[in-house]
Amino acid sequence: MSRHVLITGASRGIGAAVANHFVAQGDVVVALSRSGDAPEGCAMSLSVDVASSASVAGAVKTAIDAHGPVDVLVANAGITRDGLAMRMSDEQWRDVLSTNLDGAFYSARAVLSSMIRARSGRIVFMGSVSPFYGVPGQANYAAAKAGMVGLARSLAREVASRGITVNVIAPGFIDTEMTAGLGATSDDMTALIPMGRMGTTADIAAIVGFVASDAAGYLTGQVIAVDGGLAMGL
Ligand code: NDP
Repeated sequence: MSRHVLITGASRGIGAAVANHFVAQGDVVVALSRSGDAPEGCAMSLSVDVASSASVAGAVKTAIDAHGPVDVLVANAGITRDGLAMRMSDEQWRDVLSTNLDGAFYSARAVLSSMIRARSGRIVFMGSVSPFYGVPGQANYAAAKAGMVGLARSLAREVASRGITVNVIAPGFIDTEMTAGLGATSDDMTALIPMGRMGTTADIAAIVGFVASDAAGYLTGQVIAVDGGLAMGL
């Protein structure tokens, strides 16, 4: 049976690959992003700023009015505004916290009542290995992604009895626009990955697909690193 899958940050990169995965399964995919772009086959695409509670609430209402209760949320939208902590501006700090952490919370909160009524649901947050590994220049990003783990685990306990699972996927170093243009840093990072390559967006989409599947009904409150071994043991 096809499910209603809502994905934030679905216009490109990991979110677009996740959208393609669910579209290929025959699911009804609603893609949210600032640009409103979406991969082919999505049932609906909406322009939203996840850092705005009202924007997220409005988009989720539109999606539910059109396609019914949300079965799967993939809260994936994210940005980087890198800089050494000593020189990081208030704006760099706030922008990343607002989009990456506030946005994840607003998205989850907006779908919860429909999932609770349905007594089932899958919430998948797109985290990162960065809070476990520590990345110079990414204090804002790592803090936001660490906060996401606390959000996910608290939420997981709140809604487990309603048949809703909440998990975090923690990608390592994935080939997208976010990591493009890192030049020599990219080679240095790749050298640290036991599997010897950057991850692909399809590597991440496959694991998101599993976590959102019926087969993963007993998996909740977990952080699943998909990183070619980069952060193993952390
Ligand atoms: P991209 O930069 O390729 O894509 C980011 C996506 O987020 C775009 O669809 C963008 O769409 C959307 N987005 C950004 N800000 C907002 C906003 N305020 N409101 C709505 N949508 C927004 O990034 P990736 O695909 O690489 O990353 C996706 C997720 O995976 C992020 O959360 C990132 O932190 C995480 N991640 C990525 C890793 C990597 O190595 N690439 C590693 C670990 C985690 P638009 O511009 O149209 O708004």
